[in-house]
Order: sequence, then C-alpha cells, then structure tokens
Amino acid sequence: MNIRDIDVNLTDEQKALRDMVRKFGAEVVRPAGIELDRMHDPADVIAEGSVLWNVFRQHRELGLHKMGLPKALGGMMEDVDPMSRLIVAEELGYADAGLSISLGASTMPFALCAYFPNPLVQELGRAFCEDTGVKMVGCWAITEPDHGGDWSLGGSNPRCAPSVRAVLKGDEYIVNGEKSAWVSNGTIATHAVLHVALDPSRGMEGTGLAIIPLDLPGISKAKPLDKIGQRTLNQGSIIFDDARIPSDYMVIPDPDIMTGVGMGEVILAAANGGMSVTFAGLALAAYDEAYRYAKERIQGGVPIFEHQNIKLKLFNMFKMVEAARGASRRMAMYNSVTVPPSAAHAVACKVLSTETAFHVASEAVQIFGGYGLTKEYPVEKMFRDARAAMIEDGVNETLAIQAADFL
Ligand SMILES: Cc1cc2nc3c(=O)[nH]c(=O)nc-3n(C[C@H](O)[C@H](O)[C@H](O)COP(=O)(O)OP(=O)(O)OC[C@H]3O[C@@H](n4cnc5c(N)ncnc54)[C@H](O)[C@@H]3O)c2cc1C
Repeated sequence: MNIRDIDVNLTDEQKALRDMVRKFGAEVVRPAGIELDRMHDPADVIAEGSVLWNVFRQHRELGLHKMGLPKALGGMMEDVDPMSRLIVAEELGYADAGLSISLGASTMPFALCAYFPNPLVQELGRAFCEDTGVKMVGCWAITEPDHGGDWSLGGSNPRCAPSVRAVLKGDEYIVNGEKSAWVSNGTIATHAVLHVALDPSRGMEGTGLAIIPLDLPGISKAKPLDKIGQRTLNQGSIIFDDARIPSDYMVIPDPDIMTGVGMGEVILAAANGGMSVTFAGLALAAYDEAYRYAKERIQGGVPIFEHQNIKLKLFNMFKMVEAARGASRRMAMYNSVTVPPSAAHAVACKVLSTETAFHVASEAVQIFGGYGLTKEYPVEKMFRDARAAMIEDGVNETLAIQAADFL
C-alpha cells in the first residue's frame, strides 16, 4: 500500500492481524476475484469446483467468519476488538469488494443469532462458528422486486408494504412472496435474515424479522443475476410459496418490538457501516494501482508521475481516500461500542466511501489511459465494482433522504 497508516493507536496485534488478512487478500482473494469476474456465466461463479469455495474455506480456516459472534456461541467477539474487525473489512475490500461483501453477508444471520435467547436460533450460531467446511452460508433478504427504496422511505404507507408476507397459523408462519434478485449470496445461502410483513396495513412499520434455514418446504431460489459490477458477488432471488416456517425462527414476531428497539436503524447502521469501510478499502486499492502505474509509465520521456496533471490527480485521489478511510474508521469505532448506533454517520460514511471509490477508480482508469479500459489491469474492474456500490444496500440518494431524519 502506498499510503501510510497514520492511525497511531494500532497495536502490534492489530498490525499482525492486518498483515495476515492483507496476505490472504493478495494471495487468495484478489486472484480469485479476477478469475471469477471474467466468468461469462454467473452460474460458473458458484459452481462446484469454483475458486469461490476456496476463498470461503480459507476465510473460515482463518476464523474470520466468527469474529462477530460471542464466545458463548464459539465465536471470537470478545477477543477481537472493533478496530481489528474494521481493519479486516477494509483489507478484504481492498482485495476484492464483491467477495468481501459475499463473505460479510455469509455471516449475517448467524451474527444476529447471538441477540436472541431462543435455543433453536442460538444453535444455528454455534453450528456456524464450527463450520469450516462451508456448509452454512448466510444472506440478508430484505428488498423485493417491487420494493427497493421503499425499505428506506416507505414509512407507514400501506402501498409500500413488503410483498413477502407471513401469517401465523398454529405454531408456524405461512410465508408467500419473493425477495429480489439482488439478495447477496441468494443463490448459495443456506440461511437468511428475512424481513417479512406481519401487518401490511402499517406499511414498512408492520414488519417482523426471522432467521431461517432455506431448505424448508415451499422455499426456492432463482438463477444467479448477471450484472456489470461486483460479478464475484453472487446474487439471486428467493421465492416463498406457502413456505412453512416454525414460529421459533421468527425472532421479532411483533412490529412494535421491531420499531420499539429501533431495529431498522440498527440494521441500517450495521450494513452501511460495513459498506463504508469496505469501499474505503476499494478506493485505496484503485489509488495504489494508479500511483504504481504513474511511476512506471513513460510518456514525454519521463514517468507520467512527473507531469503536473497526473500529480494533481493523484494528490486529489489521496486526499479523498484518506477522508473516506478516516471518517469510516471513526464512525465504525463509535458504532461498535454505542447503543443505539448512529445511523446518520453510517449512511454519511457509506455515501462518502462509495462516491470516493467510484471517483478514484474512474480517475485511476484515466491515469492508465487506454490500458485502463482493458482487462490486463485491475482498474476497470474496480470502476465497475465501485459503481454497483452506490446502489448496493440502498441507493445513495434514498439513503441520504432517510438518514436526514436521524440528524
Ligand atoms: C451489489 C448489490 C448488492 C445488494 N445486496 C442486497 C442484499 O444482500 N439483500 C437485499 O435484500 N438487497 C440487496 N441489494 C438491493 C439494494 O438494496 C436495492 O437495489 C436498493 O435498495 C434499491 O432498490 P431498487 O434497485 O429496487 O431501486 P428503486 O427503489 O426502484 O430506485 C430506483 C430509483 O428511484 C429512486 N427512488 C426510489 N424510491 C424513491 C422515493 N421514495 N423517493 C425518491 N426517489 C426514490 C432511487 O433513488 C433510484 O434512483 C443489493 C443491490 C446491489 C446493487
């Protein structure tokens, strides 16, 4: 990395963890990302034998999947401080943002298990911590084909109510509807955090939350989505056709609890917080590529770094990367130790980091000239990956309108 880490508080343990994840990122994640990105058919990304599974396996073997789970469930939460966790996200974002999101989403349902005392759910968290064979993969199923921005701005409007609906019958919920093709890991997930309408007359304020296995009768998946950026992140819809979900899996069965504990805000802060750190990592990666190239490429008889226009570009990129990185770290540290977290800061940092990643990756392409457009160099992929991030986990504009209410 060409930018020094000016965080004076980093301990030797944190630096050792950073170096270990950086090595994993450089030797395993980045090369796998390049290979997966070039696959023409997104079905090949998730096929048996795909290098994707090697990334997942090594991530588990390093224990990185259980950093957000408590010791009581076999996790490492108490031993891994918040700074260490965010360094891991930044490093993985640096290596490959799409794979970083895939690995992060894979832990989501299980990390949530810790917050609910129900033994069935706690057992899922425990089994996940032990799962080095990648038998369990999580996803976050919230958006729907007809409801994307509605999850940010729908409020109590019944016309914005989710179309995935759960109706309690005896000790089971009958669930119908479809989660969107955008569900990250939707094609490979074995478990999901599932947002459902319990009382559609209350719009988005009438929802509940379940943590469910996806092999229950009545649940099926669609084929993987084909898209321009983050092609390493598999995505696909999940369909519920009279699916029967045992009521113990409905961890928040009452919309009043959901709104009362501010669960929407907590999830928004967690998801956007992770995005901001990850895409600060991608921004840094694009800057590094451009810096290295500018020192090597000769035009006008000198390395292009010697030309003032390139110097100005690189300095501006450096300034933006450091602003996004610094703000994201500060926000992530605060939110990891504060209840309730600041969703306003998390969204601000998500917007800042993803816009920075997109701008810096675009400038990197410019610095590479024609070569920047080719697959010979990684910057065109970083540009595509960064573009997707401004829509991912909420369109930046809708998120900003939503978060303005938290100011
Ligand atoms: C890479 C990636 C990963 C993702 N991962 C997941 C995931 O893991 N799980 C999941 O469930 N979803 C996921 N999503 C879905 C993502 O959250 C949605 O795409 C996003 O919320 C936007 O929804 P939409 O695509 O339906 O766009 P729409 O909501 O249809 O928005 C279209 C346009 O209209 C604007 N708009 C929408 N509503 C309003 C309004 N009320 N007022 C003013 N303007 C409005 C938006 O700003 C946008 O410009 C992912 C998306 C991407 C790109």
